[in-house]
Parts: sequence; C-alpha cells; structure tokens
Amino acid sequence: MQLPYNPGDVRRIDELLNNHWPDAACELQARDPFEFLVAVICSAQTSDQRVNQVMAVLQEHLCGLPAYAAISIPDLSALLSRLPLYRQKARAISECARLISELHGGELPRDPHALRQLPGVGAKTAAVVLGNRLGVPAIAVDSHVARCSQRLGLSRSTQATSIELDLCRRFPQDRWVQLCHQLIRLGRAHCRPKAPRCSSCPLRRVCPANGVNDAR
Ligand code: SF4
Repeated sequence: MQLPYNPGDVRRIDELLNNHWPDAACELQARDPFEFLVAVICSAQTSDQRVNQVMAVLQEHLCGLPAYAAISIPDLSALLSRLPLYRQKARAISECARLISELHGGELPRDPHALRQLPGVGAKTAAVVLGNRLGVPAIAVDSHVARCSQRLGLSRSTQATSIELDLCRRFPQDRWVQLCHQLIRLGRAHCRPKAPRCSSCPLRRVCPANGVNDAR
C-alpha cells in the first residue's frame, strides 16, 4: 500500500515528538511485572489516574503473584469495585495469576503469543507489558495512537494490526515504546477525536490533516 509520507517526513515527525514529549512514559504504577499486567488489565475503559488509585488499594492488601492467585474472586472484585467492568477484570486477573503460576513458573512470558493466551490480554495489553516491563520492543495501538497515526499520514489503515505494522516499518525498534506514549500525549493534548487543536499543535507543519476540524 502506498503511504503518503517519505522517510524525511517520518524523521521530522520523530524529531518533533521527541522535542515536545521527551519524557513521555507509561503512567501506571506497579511494583513488579505481574502487578503491571494487573494495572494494564484494570486500565480498560478508565483513566490511568483511576487505575493508580485502585493500584494503591491493591498494594495495601496484595503483594506478588501468589497473593493474586490465592485471593478469592469476590474479594478481588471488592478491591477493584471502583473500576468499570470490575468483576470481569477480577476474574481475568485471578485466572492470569493461576495460569502464570502453573504454566510459566510464576514469571510473565516474554513471548507475545504466550502472553496473548492469558485471559484479558489482547494484542494491545500484551504490547504494553512487553514494551514497558519485559524489555521486548512492541507497539501498542490504542485509540490515541490509531487516530494520530492516521491523521499524521503514518498509516492509512483503521485496523490496529495494520497500524502497528506501519509504525513498526517506519520507526526504529528502539523508538517503538516511547513513540506510543508520545502519540498518546499528542492525542490527549491536541489531536482530540472530535475537535483537534491543530492551531496549537507542535506537529501542525508536517501534518496533512492540519486544520481539518480544527477546534481553534
Ligand atoms: S495538526 Fe491537527 S490533526 Fe495533525 S496531529 Fe496536530 S492536532 Fe492532530
């Protein structure tokens, strides 16, 4: 598929993202990789701030994967009750703890396929965990990453899998993880879904969608 950007434009986008969000990183708070997986599962349909409030509660009661494998689902649900879908999340977390303990010796697998076999772990969750806690380069496509990639001309696709492949082709591996956090920052601050703030966007000079539905 012909994409609208040449490598020079990608380099300029990369420079601007690095200039404006040099410290962009995951904001979920967790003490170990399993707790990070718990936080990412909890983050579906809610904010990082809300998840961090709930993680603080979890950290008061539970420490390490064995504690999550031992707690009952009703008790875990009660601890998660400030989250949307908390019963489903509690079931997924409990089952993850059991399976990781039984099948992977208590360690999160670094293999993307094995991670995605766990309940509640889709492609995006697996990529977030791999990239941010397991040292495996990965691109996690959420709604911000998808929208910003489309508007910046980095991908023409609306499918997360294809957007991920387009970004993987265009950016070096060592940029993948932070690139996602930078696109999320861009999406929250400027490139909003319905009324993008193009006039204040630091990428406006390289963006083919500059001015389209600009909220000003
Ligand atoms: S110029 Fe507008 S459409 Fe382009 S990235 Fe910035 S906010 Fe989004």
